[in-house]
Amino acid sequence: MDSNPINNEIKWNLVEAALSLPRPLGITCALFSLIVLIGYLCNIEALYRPIAGGPATHPLTALSILFLGLGVNANCQNQRRSWLQRLLTMLALLIIVARLGEATSGTDLTSWITPFHSLVMLDIQAGKNNSMGVNSAIMLLLIALALGLYSVKAPKYSQFAASIAVAVPMVSFTGYTYGIEHFYGQMSLLTATTGFCLAAATLMLTADHAALRSILSPYIGGKIARLQMIAGIIIPIALGYMLVKSFVSDSVQHQSLFGLFVVIICWFVIMMVSMSSIFSEKVDFERRLNEAKLATAALSDSLTGLPNRRKFLEFGQHEVERVKRTGNDLWILMIDLDHFKKVNDTAGHDIGDRVLIAVGSLLSQSIRKVDLAGRLGGEEFAVLLADTNQEGCERVSENIRQNIALLQISGWTEFYGPITASIGCAKLSATDTLEKALRAADEALYQAKNNGRNQVSMIHT
Ligand code: GH3
Ligand code: MG
Ligand code: MG
Repeated sequence: MDSNPINNEIKWNLVEAALSLPRPLGITCALFSLIVLIGYLCNIEALYRPIAGGPATHPLTALSILFLGLGVNANCQNQRRSWLQRLLTMLALLIIVARLGEATSGTDLTSWITPFHSLVMLDIQAGKNNSMGVNSAIMLLLIALALGLYSVKAPKYSQFAASIAVAVPMVSFTGYTYGIEHFYGQMSLLTATTGFCLAAATLMLTADHAALRSILSPYIGGKIARLQMIAGIIIPIALGYMLVKSFVSDSVQHQSLFGLFVVIICWFVIMMVSMSSIFSEKVDFERRLNEAKLATAALSDSLTGLPNRRKFLEFGQHEVERVKRTGNDLWILMIDLDHFKKVNDTAGHDIGDRVLIAVGSLLSQSIRKVDLAGRLGGEEFAVLLADTNQEGCERVSENIRQNIALLQISGWTEFYGPITASIGCAKLSATDTLEKALRAADEALYQAKNNGRNQVSMIHT
């Protein structure tokens, strides 16, 4: 039986599902970036410029996405954070840093590392937009950072970086939806989509940590958080879209301000929900833990820690059903300490308790994982032996009897000699009820007592 009550929790299916996504998403992103590069190689513009006249996905952006997509995949394949993943992240980082350095210093740092550079230059000379946008570079930098933090086992920070990375393409999407050009700038729809998937993949690497875990929880806190998240994103975007398209549609500045307002509202909601879900999961976890502890306590004996009568009967009933299905043998052992009243009367209740604790721990050590030992009450114990024949039952009961007699209980053994026990065994057949088998074991125990105690007696039902 599992001793940690919280281990019996229901499965966190959404967390499992999220953890299984990074790999296919990473591979898909890498494939899309390959298609873009093939577009450059074969000079097929539609492959790297998804909207005619709109921004293109720059070869360096495609290359960075390729490295990072493969990096996410390498991370999933090897739990020990492979060197390959770090190498790929470093390569992407080099490109991104060069691009950002170029944007801040105004010098040309990327042309010599840009594949298909001449084609890009032709595009630009023809007045077409083809550049690795600063927004794309920032998004990729955040993804690389998140991957790096994940690989050095800082999942919470990784999740934080990845969630900001997700926000960048979402701003671009808002721009494409509302028709606000400087919201997406030089980020093509393809870059925004693959960047979003890549950021989401990186985010989901840490689905079993921090806020994301709380949001995906199967308990009430997670369910509420998910509803709030969906409503908090869909409602402002839908309302905003309707408003932008109607009464503010005359002014580009108003549109931008309104778009910004919607984006800020969405991210405010996401931040609030994430933070509150962490706290609600924490509180709910404590509640579940305490409930599980109470449930365990209600089924175990406080003195010996063994399952109590209720648990023993519950398990027994369960085993009877199994015997009916499988036809395997089940043996019941009733164990009663001999002249135990004398221990209490002579040495005191405390020493009596000490004996019961020692016998309880001996019983739990004497059985296999599939068996169960319980304290039925007073100085009476019982054991269920699953899938055992008569020989096995005899061996186990005889071992128990001998080992009880070998117990050293300070305060008793050194003055009054060994503690002994009588054991009654009964076999439960497929046609028997648990009650019948327990009565038979009791009868066998009675026989053992009558025959002089400190012995094992058997009855076949
Ligand atoms: P027999 O060999 O016939 O079984 O004799 P016995 O003295 O063991 O039988 P009896 O049923 O008369 O005595 C059981 C005793 O177990 C009586 C009670 O004081 C003692 N007992 C029951 N529960 C506890 C407990 O939790 N702690 C202690 N110390 N003693 C207990
Ligand atoms: Mg007794
Ligand atoms: Mg008794």
